[in-house]
Amino acid sequence: MFENLSDRLERSFKILKGQGTITEINVAETLKEIRKALIEADVNYKVAKTFTDDVKKKALGQNVLTSLQPGQLMVKIVHDELAQLMGGSSVDINLKGSPAVILMSGLQGSGKTTFSGKLANLLKSKRGKNPLLVACDIYRPAAIEQLKVIGGQINVPVYAEEGNMNAVQIAQHAVKFAKQNNHDLVIIDTAGRLAIDEQMMNEIANIKAAIQPQEILFVVDSMTGQDAVNTAKEFNERLNFDGVILTKLDGDTRGGAALSIRSVVTKPIKFVGTGEKMDALDTFYPERMADRILGMGDIVSFVERAQEMYDEEESRRLSKKLAKNQFDFNDFLSQLQQIKKMGNLKDIASMIPGVGKALKDVELDDNVFKSTESIIYSMTPYERERPDSLNGSRRQRIARGSGTSIQEVNRLLKQFDDMRKMMKMVSQNKMPGRKK
Ligand code: GDP
Repeated sequence: MFENLSDRLERSFKILKGQGTITEINVAETLKEIRKALIEADVNYKVAKTFTDDVKKKALGQNVLTSLQPGQLMVKIVHDELAQLMGGSSVDINLKGSPAVILMSGLQGSGKTTFSGKLANLLKSKRGKNPLLVACDIYRPAAIEQLKVIGGQINVPVYAEEGNMNAVQIAQHAVKFAKQNNHDLVIIDTAGRLAIDEQMMNEIANIKAAIQPQEILFVVDSMTGQDAVNTAKEFNERLNFDGVILTKLDGDTRGGAALSIRSVVTKPIKFVGTGEKMDALDTFYPERMADRILGMGDIVSFVERAQEMYDEEESRRLSKKLAKNQFDFNDFLSQLQQIKKMGNLKDIASMIPGVGKALKDVELDDNVFKSTESIIYSMTPYERERPDSLNGSRRQRIARGSGTSIQEVNRLLKQFDDMRKMMKMVSQNKMPGRKK
């Protein structure tokens, strides 16, 4: 699903690799690529344009934390905008009313009958509902038969009136039947045509007027891309439906329908169909869909955690101290604590693209922090501020106090010293082989 789109977006982020900050100039190429990727995925042209404009505004207004790369930040911005485009948060189905009545709409072949069964199955098993399926397709006897087969599979009764050519009446009778038989949920499958036609639209509009359903759902095949969006628009103008169901997302759909429908009809996508079987139904979560499209959910959480935890103020204070060569063990401790706040070492490392796989079999021990911390805690405040004061006898006392060995203390002091030297070079741009 969405494979091409994912690949193309990933490539567009690479353009920003190696850049220090996001500027109007260097972001232009990336945005152009993102727009192309969306249009190729059959996203509506206007939607793609607004999307990249929004991403640009966000990207230029963002403060790139020193701990992040612009490419990573861009992934996060695009991710959040994708989720926003698809509706932001998930919207539940309305089950109020006794019985709650749900009316299906959509073209023939979109997956209405299959979805009716899936929904009945889901609400029965997950929400304890007692559903009744209703066959209101008066034109195709095979459609009634199909619903009966599905009802049999999931053990849900199907209401049908073979021979009755009045769909409105069948729907009314079905609701009455449901009330008499303690069904708290009625799901009405209606007739669809291969293309929008006036008679079909009138019929479903009449059913709506007669039974006032709690929820009208519009079912659409995601493989039809832009056509799906146009059909949705027409159905919505006529029915003012409450939600969209995207079916066949298990196929190699390019993603255009999923991405454009919400902003064109301003109605939420509520479920997605991911197969022909009765349990192949997922609640639609815009965030998770954005994760899947980017295939970079890990970077997104990495950036979020860094943004949450990283203390810009503290890092400015530290870099000043570094420049003056005043970095001491108190600062070192505070750095350690910032890293620890971000979580388990291996988790953090594995969020960085490419690192996760490499670390699969490596033991990364969070206890490394513990012995380092206890060594620092065993120093006196005077010693922490003046690392140079740590002579042999002080080191021995610290090893005893921290339950470590003199070798471990020496190793830490050596590392600390190397780090100080290196940081000083970095802060003065004197790293060997590196340009300013
Ligand atoms: P209707 O005419 O709108 O009632 O559509 P159907 O429910 O009869 O579905 C049309 C075809 O699409 C059937 O062969 C279904 O098995 C298939 N179908 C429905 N939903 C999905 C889905 O989410 N994934 C896949 N792969 N096939 C689906």
